[in-house]
Amino acid sequence: MRIVFRRDDLEGFRRLAMESDVEEAGLLVGRCLGDECRVERIFVAKNIEHSPVRFTIDPYTMLRAYEYADAEGLEVIGVIHGHPAPPRPSSLDLENMRRWPVIWVIIDTRTGDVGAWLWRDSLIKVEYGIMD
Ligand code: ZN
Repeated sequence: MRIVFRRDDLEGFRRLAMESDVEEAGLLVGRCLGDECRVERIFVAKNIEHSPVRFTIDPYTMLRAYEYADAEGLEVIGVIHGHPAPPRPSSLDLENMRRWPVIWVIIDTRTGDVGAWLWRDSLIKVEYGIMD
């Protein structure tokens, strides 16, 4: 499994996540064909917890992302967030991944490293790439 971003989308979110005082999060809208998922747009959310260590996506952004996906024949294929630790799911992330089994992309806000993961009975590493 592989997830592919537009360079500007990923770099924009990475910069935001690294500069922010709170955990930044967003929804990834795109499409999956076979083993490859392409992100067409990132909907950056408000973190309604205003927390540096947890996030909850605001419902308005959630609604906008699903409406956009419906209108464009796309899907909400993942969620992205930054946390100040290696880009692997925290125990809280793992709990949420079980509830919401989309691709989880994580940015280490100290280094900018990126990890992508999926929960399917166990944790699966997803490769990530950039489309030019
Ligand atoms: Zn996290």
